[in-house]
Amino acid sequence: MAEGGDADAEPQASYRAGCFCGAVEVEVTGKAMFSGYCHCADCQAWSAAPINAFSLWKSDSVRIIKGEAELGTYNKTEHSYRKFCKRCGGHVMTEHPRMRLIDVYANLLRGYQHQPTLHANYASKMVSVRDGLPKYADLPAELGGSGEMLPD
Ligand SMILES: [Zn+2]
Ligand SMILES: [Zn+2]
Repeated sequence: MAEGGDADAEPQASYRAGCFCGAVEVEVTGKAMFSGYCHCADCQAWSAAPINAFSLWKSDSVRIIKGEAELGTYNKTEHSYRKFCKRCGGHVMTEHPRMRLIDVYANLLRGYQHQPTLHANYASKMVSVRDGLPKYADLPAELGGSGEMLPD
């Protein structure tokens, strides 16, 4: 549960995500700003998987609660600072300074119900996902993209 900060009447839900070995733990509180799937080449290479399930949170909703010293950062571009555990190599989250949001990998959040609303960077997809959700060629306009749509 969130402590300190502004005293909201309703307690906000919190969820925790850990790296592969458990040395690093982060906690998110409240609601994700955007949830979906990213098909970009960088997520594919970083995760060694065709799709990254993302949940984007405001920076102040994300807290490192364990193993901060074990958390490494690599940024191939200025847009994405990818964070991983130096002990096990497990990926934890990616900071997006331009968006002022942090992607905590949805499949790591325990007890969290991922509610995807869109697919991003579908132009570089490796697999098609015919789930009826909007498919953006890059990103929605509100996240700094062209907003261009592609078929399912
Ligand atoms: Zn680890
Ligand atoms: Zn991506």
